[in-house]
Amino acid sequence: MNRGFDLVVVGAGIVGLAHALAGVRRGWRVAVVERDTRCVGASVRNFGFVTVTGQAGATRRRAERTRAVWAEVAPAAGIAVLHRGAWVTARRPAAVAVLEAYAAGPHGAGCRLVDGAAARAQLPMLHADTRAALWSRHELRVESRDALPRLAAWLAEVHGVQFFWGETVHEALAPQVRTARRVLQAARVVACPGTVFGGIGAEVLASHGLRLTRLQMLRVRPPSPWRLPGAVLGDLSLVRYGGFAQLPEAQALRTALQHDAADCLAHGVHLIVVQSADGSLVVGDSHHDDTAAGPFAAPGAPPSEAVDTLILRELQALLVPGDYGVVERWSGHYPVGHDDDVLVHTPGPATRLVVVTSGTGASTAFALADEVLDTL
Ligand SMILES: Cc1cc2nc3c(=O)[nH]c(=O)nc-3n(C[C@H](O)[C@H](O)[C@H](O)COP(=O)(O)OP(=O)(O)OC[C@H]3O[C@@H](n4cnc5c(N)ncnc54)[C@H](O)[C@@H]3O)c2cc1C
Repeated sequence: MNRGFDLVVVGAGIVGLAHALAGVRRGWRVAVVERDTRCVGASVRNFGFVTVTGQAGATRRRAERTRAVWAEVAPAAGIAVLHRGAWVTARRPAAVAVLEAYAAGPHGAGCRLVDGAAARAQLPMLHADTRAALWSRHELRVESRDALPRLAAWLAEVHGVQFFWGETVHEALAPQVRTARRVLQAARVVACPGTVFGGIGAEVLASHGLRLTRLQMLRVRPPSPWRLPGAVLGDLSLVRYGGFAQLPEAQALRTALQHDAADCLAHGVHLIVVQSADGSLVVGDSHHDDTAAGPFAAPGAPPSEAVDTLILRELQALLVPGDYGVVERWSGHYPVGHDDDVLVHTPGPATRLVVVTSGTGASTAFALADEVLDTL
């Protein structure tokens, strides 16, 4: 088949699917070409945590808009929203100071800071050492491994997006997208290859010095069958998310963490805990440079059991101690090394290469796609 499309998207991760949605909302005929037979990249390996609180600058604005699109699209596409809101908890006095400053600042709207006792009254599973918690109503969470296939199916069935699964794109420059099997005619092309640096856009991505960071993730059973009312984060996240980490109060927390959690900082461990429909908890993560990793990991090199142990130790300090049996382990990657959270390159007047260069694609993709298509 050799048909003309208003937009051809390369890659069926969340960034590609967001561009497909933005295209059909403009009334365009859209195709998506994906080299795998289903989505298997970062977009199905993440927490599905659409994070607004703690994001800074343009990322924050994109996250607010993207959260609104998720809230609208999820029911239409049959995607369950498993959490609404998040609890950012503080164990160390310096972490409490960060939350107080955040709550009093411009992004504190929609958030409520409570002391440890009040937080535990709502979340009895929080550790007894919790001194304070910031409740934010902004977040939502979907189960990405279910949500992505549903989103793709909805785009195909309801919006007529044509998917070409299992075809690697070798050339993507409007007006043509070329695979081994076909040449698609495209008025516009957006390539969203995620972590695949070696294919289309290889030279561009290399010239920007992008690297890959590897994250370790766990699924555990809670010690008893409780229900988390929202995502839970801890002190370590306050030096990781820009909206917290850029506050002057975060420096004292960094110093405190260097003193008593240096191993977590060294392995980029910070804790996000979310719950799935079956009651299991998704817990992570860690961050290691993985750009030059081969297929065989040396002892101690990531993915490593030692890092999983660190994540589980922090879990026991964030929530009530107990037996959190591991039921699943996986890792995923995202690109880093760009000044901004997003790299948008223009290889031609009607072609864009779009890579989210931070761990925020699920939180920003819908807004980003609108911005990109506005330029085409
Ligand atoms: C463990 C982990 C946890 C995370 N947690 C969160 C979170 O909670 N919240 C959040 O907002 N973000 C999170 N992120 C980041 C987020 O998942 C990513 O930013 C996002 O998934 C990137 O989406 P993508 O579509 O660019 O990439 P991908 O999902 O990797 O998709 C890219 C697709 O392009 C395809 N492709 C590449 N080259 C070609 C080609 N030549 N031809 C055809 N197809 C091609 C690939 O096969 C792939 O399917 C997390 C990431 C990881 C790894």
